Amino acid sequence: MNQKRIAIIGGGPAGLAAAELLSRSGHAVTVYDAMPTFARKFLLAGKSGLNITHSEDYARFATRFGAASARLRPALDAFTPDDIRDWAAGLGTETFVGSSGRVFPKEMKASPLLRAWLRQLEAQGATLRTRHRWTGFAEDGYVFETPEGRSIFYCDAALLALGGASWPRLGSDAAWVPRLAGRGVEIDAFQPANCGFVVGWSGNFSERFAGQPVKSVTATSEAGTFPGEFVITGSGIEGSLVYTHTAALRDRLLNHGSALLTLDLAPGRTIERLSRDLARQDAKSSFSNRLRKGAGLDGVKVALLRELAPERDRTDPGRLAGIIKALAVPVIETRPIAEAISSAGGIRWSSIDENYMLKALPGTFVAGEMLDWEAPTGGYLLTACLATGRAAARGIEAWLSRSMPMISNRI
Ligand SMILES: Cc1cc2nc3c(=O)[nH]c(=O)nc-3n(C[C@H](O)[C@H](O)[C@H](O)COP(=O)(O)OP(=O)(O)OC[C@H]3O[C@@H](n4cnc5c(N)ncnc54)[C@H](O)[C@@H]3O)c2cc1C
Repeated sequence: MNQKRIAIIGGGPAGLAAAELLSRSGHAVTVYDAMPTFARKFLLAGKSGLNITHSEDYARFATRFGAASARLRPALDAFTPDDIRDWAAGLGTETFVGSSGRVFPKEMKASPLLRAWLRQLEAQGATLRTRHRWTGFAEDGYVFETPEGRSIFYCDAALLALGGASWPRLGSDAAWVPRLAGRGVEIDAFQPANCGFVVGWSGNFSERFAGQPVKSVTATSEAGTFPGEFVITGSGIEGSLVYTHTAALRDRLLNHGSALLTLDLAPGRTIERLSRDLARQDAKSSFSNRLRKGAGLDGVKVALLRELAPERDRTDPGRLAGIIKALAVPVIETRPIAEAISSAGGIRWSSIDENYMLKALPGTFVAGEMLDWEAPTGGYLLTACLATGRAAARGIEAWLSRSMPMISNRI
């Protein structure tokens, strides 16, 4: 075959997925990463078990990416959740479906999979270069800062897989944004996704309840009503049920300046039943006793009612029942993007072609969280990063096979 030189810049899941396909095809692939080791965010995801994909019905799965679902669909169709499980098994990592339908490695960590993946890349002839920070374009190459100084890499095609803007200390610092914007690439400002929110608890409440889970509730926002659990933090709320509502709450805050997450603290009981059972309680007994006996609530749920329910409604069984079923939690702002699990925003879909090539920079492809899509937690993020990395690799092959590369092959 006609071997080409290809630079993969950014060694997270998207970049490594592309490197795997291209090196298997026999191309001379070099993977660069700015950090001393590859895929640090992937490894961090492993600390909470590495939710690598989701087992729900694929038609539903493919709609989880909001407005970007249609654009992502061909990439997802070509690397489905079942394919991900087979791929991981091929690297020695068997997976299982958890009770929520989420898929995890049996070892509940990322490091064995990453080690096997990097070994496979090297066995396929890929060159792996850490401590190589891409800093911009030379006339016909890519400029890196390396421990040995500045160097320029000339290649036939390159993939940028530099990640989004969350957890910048793991490498994805979005420093590429002005570099690409300066070349005519349209980029939407990054926003936190799957993040916590500031609520502004009283000092007493946050001191006593920070770190406590709030289990078996439903939460409603403009995104809909979902069951699950979340965690009280010193400044507000976070956790999977909150993340499901991130986009809706964040956008509401942006457009209206305020937003509410509405909790049902007793989803198994109707308002009529609660009202009846609370009315039966001795009006002289304490608030917590009435809630425990009349509504089955205790601990942090009682404390949430104390914190947020108006004093005057606590003695009226009907009004109290209504508040238990629809407790409005006012969120003030998102937590900083540096703490978010992922980011929304990034390179607009109108700036790339269907092969993930930047229209403004022929021969330069992009994949992963750099692109403008977001999804809840549940394995959707890694699935889309792996799938777009592979789609961009196929795009690179197609482009190299049909065009005279615009980037010279000097070395
Ligand atoms: C705490 C946490 C837990 C998570 N858990 C899950 C989970 O369970 N399931 C899930 O689906 N997703 C999870 N995610 C999200 C998931 O890890 C990311 O969506 C995914 O890693 C993004 O992949 P990527 O390849 O696009 O970018 P990244 O993984 O961010 O990789 C980008 C790479 O580019 C490198 N880079 C950046 N700039 C340069 C430069 N100038 N030069 C050279 N290299 C550069 C970076 O060092 C980095 O290695 C989690 C994220 C966090 C923070």
